[in-house]
Amino acid sequence: MRILIKNVQLNRHPVDIFIDGRFIVRVGNDLYEEAERVIDGSGKAVVPGFVNGHTHSAMTLFRGFGDDLPLEKWLNEKIWPYEKHLSEEDVYWGTKLACVEMIKTGTTCFNDMYMHYPPVLRAVEEMGLRAVLGSTVFDFFRDDIAGQARQQVAKDSVLPRSGRISFSLAPHAIYTVSGATLRWVDDSAKANGWLVHLHLAETQTEYNNSVKNFGLSPVRYLNRLKLLSPRLILAHCLYVDEEEIRMLADHGVRVVHNPNSNLKLGSGHAFKYREMKAAGILTAIGTDGAATSNNLNMLEAAKIAALLQKGWRNDPTVMPAGEALQCITENGAAILNIHAGKIEAGYLADLCLIDLRSSAFTPGFNFVSNLIYATYGNCVDTVICDGNILMENRSLKGEDEIVEQAGKTADKLIKNHG
Ligand SMILES: [Zn+2]
Repeated sequence: MRILIKNVQLNRHPVDIFIDGRFIVRVGNDLYEEAERVIDGSGKAVVPGFVNGHTHSAMTLFRGFGDDLPLEKWLNEKIWPYEKHLSEEDVYWGTKLACVEMIKTGTTCFNDMYMHYPPVLRAVEEMGLRAVLGSTVFDFFRDDIAGQARQQVAKDSVLPRSGRISFSLAPHAIYTVSGATLRWVDDSAKANGWLVHLHLAETQTEYNNSVKNFGLSPVRYLNRLKLLSPRLILAHCLYVDEEEIRMLADHGVRVVHNPNSNLKLGSGHAFKYREMKAAGILTAIGTDGAATSNNLNMLEAAKIAALLQKGWRNDPTVMPAGEALQCITENGAAILNIHAGKIEAGYLADLCLIDLRSSAFTPGFNFVSNLIYATYGNCVDTVICDGNILMENRSLKGEDEIVEQAGKTADKLIKNHG
């Protein structure tokens, strides 16, 4: 479809944007292109669609279930006992709910790790978002489970996908996946051009156990396994020292900071953004699953990330609003090897129109500051992904049914297995 957006604010200047098919084709003034849809952008600003660098979308089903617990207790007592009962239908509705929430808060792309690949894929295809969907790998250090995981990956990887969806391998963590399986994951990813999505150095306990079990800290352990590469996206990386940051940078590893989840689980707060940026590590931001961050709102995640950096450093200059926005747009797209994250000709047409007519944007001295620090996700008026309009005037097709079905699904899951 050809879409012409007229008179929208871009970096405080009114512009027109012409989208043809999947791409932004022209950005300029007084464009008069033939288009099937013309959108009046007056009173609105355009930003690239947000990229959620790390999440488990169907965990929306566990929102508010098992709050205020540390990671290990939360996983063992609240999540894993119920997750094993999840049906494909449950995961489908959980993912649909996540997609609703992401679209309503301006996310156009996300990096996902969850079980039951087919219903996740089906839900995301239907909802029109862009995503890198990880086939999750666990082996719990057992050969029989490793064999099953390999078979599952073989099945998931050949499912038909649209151009919006990329396949990745998502080994859960170094405490749930053996070194041999991690090696197999990286070899498979290298052979097929897939990304690898892994939790790493999330808690002090994980760090201590890594030293105890493998004789090395988490990053050094991955280095010994020869897993560090530009294919690797690491979620968390809270417990890393200067030398490990150098190792990550030298190998082109990408890192995703998840401030809300880290704070809520009490996993840690001293994410070394400044050192990673100085070392040249591509850093994005994620929400993690809605069971730990409780929402999938990237504007909130960006704000918390920025505040957290200033807080633990006692330095208000770290991660200014513009850098927080860059982390959730340009950097997010870059870590996923996606040509999006900028409003420029030639980039994928993944963008949001922000409604400026609210108290949060008044006065309008600094749009980026207002967007990151003052507003909420409900400032997102229109969302376009891959050149398709997913939401306009905050109206999203099918929202009510999805919310209702997902709510029923979660209730049934907890009631039947509690
Ligand atoms: Zn996670």
